[in-house]
Amino acid sequence: MLIIITIVAICIGSFLNVVILRLPKVLDEQYHQEASQVLGIKVPNAENHPTENLNRRSACPHCHTPLKAWHNIPILSFIFLRGKCRFCHYKISFTYPTIEILSGALVFFIMWHFGINAFSLLLSILCFFLIVLTVIDLKHFILPDVLTLPLLWIGLLANSFYVFTTPVFSLWGAAIGYGTLWFTFWIFKIITQKEGLGYGDFKLMAALGAWFGFQSLLFIVLVSAVLGILFALLLSLIKRKKHFLIPFGPSIALTGVLYPVVGHELTYAYFSSCT
Ligand SMILES: [Zn+2]
Repeated sequence: MLIIITIVAICIGSFLNVVILRLPKVLDEQYHQEASQVLGIKVPNAENHPTENLNRRSACPHCHTPLKAWHNIPILSFIFLRGKCRFCHYKISFTYPTIEILSGALVFFIMWHFGINAFSLLLSILCFFLIVLTVIDLKHFILPDVLTLPLLWIGLLANSFYVFTTPVFSLWGAAIGYGTLWFTFWIFKIITQKEGLGYGDFKLMAALGAWFGFQSLLFIVLVSAVLGILFALLLSLIKRKKHFLIPFGPSIALTGVLYPVVGHELTYAYFSSCT
């Protein structure tokens, strides 16, 4: 059973690749089209008909040759094709098999650790969202509303059945999660005149607060801040530049995966040692 679920998760990982690749382009085309309509002028790149959608057939990004079904088998196709397009020998990005393996590995771990139940199913859905958000934020510095807001709703609705926490704790988690980063953003902006966070970060934090309740935010805010600093240090070593953009979404997302595994126990151990 665990093997079948893992194979399904790897196939879902393959779909996540499609979302990661195409969603930013779909949104970009929508923004340009809206801008064109509002301003009443022709905006560059504003097509009358969208060129990208999530359900078109997969094609090589380089030579645009449509791919056959057997070119689309997760992980295996990458190995058989030795990481190259069969037609133009363009190198296929390592991101594709990495996302597929990561999806399979995370779901395998969740099902093995927490058992095959509704709790694990919901946690797997959370992981899929967090994988997509992480890669899109790394590549484009955005956390799209079409992903963060449904994630928030799923958390609130799941907890109306007391899956991770009580409905009241879930509601307060969403509000305090959003508020914590919102306050940080404005204090930082007033002091430095710079914007250190994006509104997508607030919404992702609100979503995690909705999933795990307000008690989880102590762990999630602190650990994601530490991860964010480590990530920034690592990037500054690699890039050797003084000023560059650092996405905060990946640090929040990673903490969201860590919380149900280690954060829950740590938080309760901390609070019980206080009393
Ligand atoms: Zn090609």
